Amino acid sequence: MATRGVLVVTGGSRGIGAATSLLAAERGYAVVVNYAGNVASAERVVASILAKGGTAIAVRGDVSQPDDVEHIFAAADRLGTLTGLVNNAGVVPPKPMRVDETSPEELRRIFNINVTGSFLCAAAAIRRMSTRYGGKGGAIVNLTSAAAKLGGAGVMVVYAASKGAIDSFTQGLSLEVAGEGIRVNAVRPGIIETEMHASGGDAGRVERVSPTLPMPRAGTAEEVAEAILWLLSDAASYTTGGVIPVSGGRAILP
Ligand code: NAP
Repeated sequence: MATRGVLVVTGGSRGIGAATSLLAAERGYAVVVNYAGNVASAERVVASILAKGGTAIAVRGDVSQPDDVEHIFAAADRLGTLTGLVNNAGVVPPKPMRVDETSPEELRRIFNINVTGSFLCAAAAIRRMSTRYGGKGGAIVNLTSAAAKLGGAGVMVVYAASKGAIDSFTQGLSLEVAGEGIRVNAVRPGIIETEMHASGGDAGRVERVSPTLPMPRAGTAEEVAEAILWLLSDAASYTTGGVIPVSGGRAILP
């Protein structure tokens, strides 16, 4: 039974978003499993939640498009009272590329999805959860990356910079809404075993980089989901503006 209200997980169809959706349902949230195009994956996540007696719906929508974001949150409204948002949807360039090889179109695509998408979804969530709008409060968790600190040189500076923006966004927004019942935090994954690396044209990245990490293995989507669920929960009731590294020690120094 969903007793913790409604949680929107953007990019809930695969990887970290899917693991977060599944764990959130177990912890009592009704979950809006957002996806961009992969309906089969989104429906698999929803079916798995429903099979365990949870509540979930799959909602298609591109987080970078304002009309789509309204559609996602209107679907959440029909499910119940929104109590949380996980700004998880994120993309990398289709292949490793230097800054001087990154087209304006690719630059806009990455920033539109990773940054604008997180802003638009947070705004929609705040209009529902903030006491300023008559809401009862809630929590937002953003997905940043170890790349924001490492810089992504020669491979994906554009992605690293988009996640640097998420670091600033998390800090600024947390202060903006701290007095309105909303906590805003982030998790900073390192190398996590998902399909994202293949999407970036480097399917062998996890295997290649894992032995070089302080903890010499990749992380799992489930390990990231645990940190996200803690930040969403009442156990984190006095934590806002924080970033939890889930990186086995990668990029933990200031
Ligand atoms: P993933 O396996 O590639 O999954 C990406 C998810 O985002 C999919 O559900 C995808 O939907 C969705 N998505 C993509 N574009 C979207 C859009 N425009 N609107 C809505 N949804 C969209 O990624 P992941 O590895 O789980 O990464 C999740 C988050 O963690 C990202 O923000 C990523 O930057 C961050 N992160 C990942 C790692 C890592 O090592 N994996 C490390 C640091 C940070 P479809 O299924 O429909 O395509």
